Amino acid sequence: MSVLVVGSIALDTVKTPVEEHADLLGGSASYAAVSASFFAPVQLIGVVGDDFPPEHVQFLEKRNIDLAGLQRAAGKTFRWSGEYMWDMNTRETRSVELNVFEHFTPELPAAYQQTPFVLLANIAPSLQSHVLDQMSRPKFVIADTMDLWINIARADLEALLKRVDMLILNDSEARQFTGETSLVKAGRKILTMGPRYVAIKKGEHGCLLFGENEFFSCGAYPLEDIHDPTGAGDTFAGGLAGYLAKNVHGPVQFQDLKSAVVFGSVMASYNVEAFSLERLRTLSDADVEKRYGSFCLMSQFEVIK
Ligand code: AMP
Repeated sequence: MSVLVVGSIALDTVKTPVEEHADLLGGSASYAAVSASFFAPVQLIGVVGDDFPPEHVQFLEKRNIDLAGLQRAAGKTFRWSGEYMWDMNTRETRSVELNVFEHFTPELPAAYQQTPFVLLANIAPSLQSHVLDQMSRPKFVIADTMDLWINIARADLEALLKRVDMLILNDSEARQFTGETSLVKAGRKILTMGPRYVAIKKGEHGCLLFGENEFFSCGAYPLEDIHDPTGAGDTFAGGLAGYLAKNVHGPVQFQDLKSAVVFGSVMASYNVEAFSLERLRTLSDADVEKRYGSFCLMSQFEVIK
């Protein structure tokens, strides 16, 4: 089954303590769509400007991502720039140029209205809701968000939560959103706001998965060399959504989500090994399976298929 992915498509400039690269393919939807494409057919909704390099479009096409929902607008592509501190975890945003993203309204081609799995990657929650307005109730809807929307669009985010099955956010966002110090309390509180499942990401420390009376803690795959953490969360969400679309034919169960979270973590671990989406360009399905197997073994998870 297919996954519909909506979010930002960007040209990023990223600086780490040892390297800096400009105008890289980025954006929440780019990472999420490419990651999901390792598992299932993907439909991408987003906007790019007339400066968007054709080789990036060719890369997305090569991953068999359906681009019928990709808007091309006159003007410049959304640009984002960030700098990582020495711990490669703390990040400062250096600049944001919205450009064509400022007036982006996601419009779904008719063929996408029945897509069963939907990943609302990071964009304004009102736009995420606008995507759902155009669909018959999908089988499973996942939403990602960020601190910006918790600050400036909280009411929109709360309205969205009543319409999604799962929310993914990081630890600081979960604390900010709920006012709870304990991530366990934060996860449980978000469950009362609409979604049936919540995943709280903890960067290099893995993630926590909450369901009603269910809990799963997943570590992160141990990596020695992290080159660029940008998009790790989006790659995680894309892998998780893609895994569900490929493997779950009935209702989504907590057990399915446990495997999905491990596959999402595997995809994120590969992604941070190189800048932008470079590592995913050369990644094979066999690589994904191999790391999934070794991750399960070292974490003493049963391999659940
Ligand atoms: P992450 O590392 O998961 O926070 O995602 C980083 C990606 O998010 C980068 O590729 C940026 O282009 C993109 N991004 C940054 N700010 C925003 C924003 N306000 N809305 C949507 N995407 C954004």
